[in-house]
Amino acid sequence: MKSAPIYLDHNATAPMLAAARDAVIDAMARTGNPSSVHATGRAARHLVESAREQVARSVGAAAPEIVFTGSGTEANNFALRGVDGPVLISAVEHDSVAAARPDAIAIPVDGDGIVDLRALEALVAQHRPALVSVMLANNETGAIQPIDEVARIARRARALIHCDAVQAFGKIAVDVAALDVDLLSVSAHKIGGPQGVGALIARGNVALEPLLRGGGQEKRRRAGTENVAGIAGFGVAAAAVNDHLKMAEATRALRDGLEARIVAAMPGARIFAAGTRRLPNTTCVGMPGIGAETQLMAFDLAGIAVSAGAACSSGKVTASRVLRAMGASEEEARCAIRVSFGRGNSVSDVERFVAAWMALAMRRGSNGGATIRAA
Ligand code: PLP
Repeated sequence: MKSAPIYLDHNATAPMLAAARDAVIDAMARTGNPSSVHATGRAARHLVESAREQVARSVGAAAPEIVFTGSGTEANNFALRGVDGPVLISAVEHDSVAAARPDAIAIPVDGDGIVDLRALEALVAQHRPALVSVMLANNETGAIQPIDEVARIARRARALIHCDAVQAFGKIAVDVAALDVDLLSVSAHKIGGPQGVGALIARGNVALEPLLRGGGQEKRRRAGTENVAGIAGFGVAAAAVNDHLKMAEATRALRDGLEARIVAAMPGARIFAAGTRRLPNTTCVGMPGIGAETQLMAFDLAGIAVSAGAACSSGKVTASRVLRAMGASEEEARCAIRVSFGRGNSVSDVERFVAAWMALAMRRGSNGGATIRAA
């Protein structure tokens, strides 16, 4: 009998919460444009504004500071392209930050992918940036950045601070005031909400040049009729974000168990960013000599969903830009996969993953000369 598939790709997208799905379906069954003044329109407006309150509360913001967007990618583009003047971004940002401003100046990172604060100080003094953008947690390795220190340095130079919290949201506590950032990006589908809806939190209503024009929605910050159903689902998922956070210790135990088994079995295996604070659910593991694409196919055949590098990119696997920025060789960056745990995972999933991993390493026999011991 074929075993049930195992989902170990929660950083790509989290399973949707039943309550969020119900809210989406319920909203879709209604008619009404939130901009219409009649009662039907006002009912749709009520859904949007309730969700705005819920999202605001989940990150310690005020409701008017929330701008709903079509994704985390759009929130990042809005922040990065909405300012005039030079921008500094870390060398390990998600593509939706890096590609939004190809002219951005990169802040180098250390071997664990953590921004070099001394280098940041020097770059800030040299370039007088309008904006500094550093993610809260990396989507590939889970490494958590010292955002408070980044903010302190950027603030001294009067730069705005943007933080992409898309991957951290729901996995560690995110509070916009404690982080002391001006702009924060989040996305619904990483916390059990629907895909295709995100938000940019603009504290103190920082003025940004809109990306989309042609309507007065979102206080003229994002034109276009709101995705009422998606926003309603986002609100419900945001209201339940503390339940997500409660899974942290369970996912950490699974992640740590997986890493311990793999390193014991193959001392040549590399766990990226192992020397720093990481998201509890995420590991990025290198299997020497076997490309990520080959690994993904083998795991897929074994019924296990994992990803190589950033899952939200094109589907074509190339060496991870993030791992390269951390000093990994082209070969190391080509042979790493990401495993991310979440709701529904159990110890037996770790067992099956480790068994598939070992089988692959032994079958290929190209394990960089590393010994494989019985797991
Ligand atoms: N930023 C980070 C760190 C991400 O991991 C992702 C998606 O994986 C995004 C931004 C993009 O979010 P969305 O999928 O909502 O466009």
